[in-house]
Amino acid sequence: MKPKILLIYTGGTIGMIKDPETGALRSFDFTKLLYHIPELKHLDCEIETTSFEEPIDSSDMDLNHWRVLGDIINAKYDDYHGFVVLHGSDTMSHTGSALSFMFENLTKPVILTGSQLPIGDLRTDAKENLITSIQLASEWENNAPIIKEVCIYFEYQLYRANRTAKMNAEHFEAFSSPNYPPLAISGVHLNIDQGLLWKGGFDDIALAKSYIDQPHPLKMMYRPEMDSRVVVLKLFPGITEAVVKAICTVKDLKGIILETYGSGNAPTSPWFIAVLREALLSGIKIVNVTQCRGGAVDMGKYETSVALKKIGMVSGFDITTEAALSKMMYLLAYMPESGDFKKYFETSLRGEISV
Ligand code: ASP
Repeated sequence: MKPKILLIYTGGTIGMIKDPETGALRSFDFTKLLYHIPELKHLDCEIETTSFEEPIDSSDMDLNHWRVLGDIINAKYDDYHGFVVLHGSDTMSHTGSALSFMFENLTKPVILTGSQLPIGDLRTDAKENLITSIQLASEWENNAPIIKEVCIYFEYQLYRANRTAKMNAEHFEAFSSPNYPPLAISGVHLNIDQGLLWKGGFDDIALAKSYIDQPHPLKMMYRPEMDSRVVVLKLFPGITEAVVKAICTVKDLKGIILETYGSGNAPTSPWFIAVLREALLSGIKIVNVTQCRGGAVDMGKYETSVALKKIGMVSGFDITTEAALSKMMYLLAYMPESGDFKKYFETSLRGEISV
């Protein structure tokens, strides 16, 4: 039996051409993408394709697009052994993180990929990225897919999607996963490190049991709701009380990802702590995430984070801002009134934090 893979084209450079008039890159008809890669016919799997009605540059991605993409995967879940999503690299880490929370107990691979150069370009990185992504999605063992999580494959490395960030707009190696090693490396051989793959989360099942009517907790569950009433507040030296207050009092705001310094440190000015305390008391959830790409928040390590811990801020540990945002949107949508937000945010639901 050959694995059946669904290739979903959402847009991005991989399928773009240069507009002859303006010289700007824009998306083109998906069928032409396959025309550029006849090699796909030689892969040991069956490939079927589908596409967004209007392919987009991933900078236009929003929650509706996440929903469309999630709905496609969910609707076709039983018909395919794996899914490869072609996506612009700009917001690929965001979409990958969001999908990882939307699909609980995944039993199949969902691999996002794209490229820095269009598929028609002589020096393109698109072919290797696409072909290897399909091969990885087709890897089977004991009648089951080896990879059962949402990943990003780019430039010879397979990453857990919710651990990644786009780090480079120039190099082919556009992504990095500073706090979790690559799940697979493509060299002469495709080396999957099975010890690093996600095996499922018991706390996630507990989450399902306690908050949602969920008769078969081990079945794949599609939870597409996301609450977008969130914001990222990045600290910088000189940030004013007026700015912090304005953000913390946005109408209907439900959550703030506070990007702090180093291991979770922030100014000790009384006004700063007072504004945050007030926001917390009004029911807004605030998560402390570090601006550093590598390493983790450790509230209480320095005096400059003691107050944050005392007022009850949630720790993001070593989560990326990208994953923190969609995890917050997901938890707010499924447990809006719950006092357990902190408990679940500080739990690894999809392998997104090291705890
Ligand atoms: N701007 C493009 C996008 O994210 C870049 C890329 O495809 O890599 O859609």
